[in-house]
Amino acid sequence: MTVAPEIKGWCPGALRPMQSGDGLVVRIRPPLGRLTPAQAEAIARAAETHGNGIIDLSARANLQLRGVTTASHLNLIEDLRAQGLIDPDIETESLRNLIVTPFRDAETAVLATTLTAALTRMPRLPGKFGFALDTGPHPVLTAASADIRVERSADGRLILRPDGHPLGKPISDLAQDALAQAHWFVAAGGITNGRGRMAALIARGIIPPGFDTSPAPSQLQPNPGITPDGTLVALAFGQMRAETLAALAQLGHEIRPTPWRMLLLLGATRLPDLPGLVTNPADPILRVTACTGAPGCPQGLGETRGLARGLAPLVPNGQTLHVSGCAKGCAHPAPADLTLVATPQGFDLVQGGTAQDTPSQSGLSPTAIPDHLKALHAPHL
Ligand code: SF4
Repeated sequence: MTVAPEIKGWCPGALRPMQSGDGLVVRIRPPLGRLTPAQAEAIARAAETHGNGIIDLSARANLQLRGVTTASHLNLIEDLRAQGLIDPDIETESLRNLIVTPFRDAETAVLATTLTAALTRMPRLPGKFGFALDTGPHPVLTAASADIRVERSADGRLILRPDGHPLGKPISDLAQDALAQAHWFVAAGGITNGRGRMAALIARGIIPPGFDTSPAPSQLQPNPGITPDGTLVALAFGQMRAETLAALAQLGHEIRPTPWRMLLLLGATRLPDLPGLVTNPADPILRVTACTGAPGCPQGLGETRGLARGLAPLVPNGQTLHVSGCAKGCAHPAPADLTLVATPQGFDLVQGGTAQDTPSQSGLSPTAIPDHLKALHAPHL
């Protein structure tokens, strides 16, 4: 039986951290979606000094420091502010909800600056409302959470596409067009009790007029490895120790966090051999996702990552398993081939759905789950 999770409707920031089971979670939104080696080194040092040394890479390509205390928070902010990683105030921080493609050209860098400035002039939007600047030749962020997307059309023009709508509209002025789209969302009734998402509004049949341009076909999520822009390295469950980030900073590359639990080391041409990194695309750990779960998350009804790590070798290549500490499904809101959801009575098993869908089995004990998975996948093994 699933238990209704608590929906907070806002995202933590650095200036407005969120209380979790292991202390405050401090979320850093890397300016323009990138970190200089000095910034990465400062974050690693701050995580060690003011937190518990654990750093999460979020599904919106932000970094989260865990285990911060109210006593250490102020010094943490001062250390990060010295590296240009802190916004002037909470409101500016909350509005800067932007994912930038890690694969970008010089034009994208200019667009990121323009859009970041425009975000400070947005109307009051729900805390989860976000923007994606996805202006490589093919969109790569379509599975990442965003409400207003800037992409390219099949013939290379910049278009603005509301999430949930298959078509976009050519952009004449990025800042003005993004502002107009946000104002349309508000005026069209996209917000109820301070919450709302663009895709939900579009799903209600409320469609903005004049959107008739197809985006270029999107690309699949890349794997760890060497790309024309640099080297992608993955993190199991999107989590690393501060030492790993410090060692990456030492390599001297700009680091671009991605929404795929991977970091792009700009310009790197070799895979770094560092503890805590996943560089083999066939590593079974990449087939599983798991949230913080209990005890790190106060809503967690079961331990997640140890279970997921143990189950990973049982997940056939090409399939996905999501282990969720409750029905909220934070780590993977989309459907997975298999989803295990912790409940007070054990784990629910959902096949081909999300953590909120109806389970096919309930009350499974962690020790019984491997046999269930083996039975399910017997034809493939
Ligand atoms: S899904 Fe996981 S991280 Fe999210 S609230 Fe539930 S237990 Fe916590």
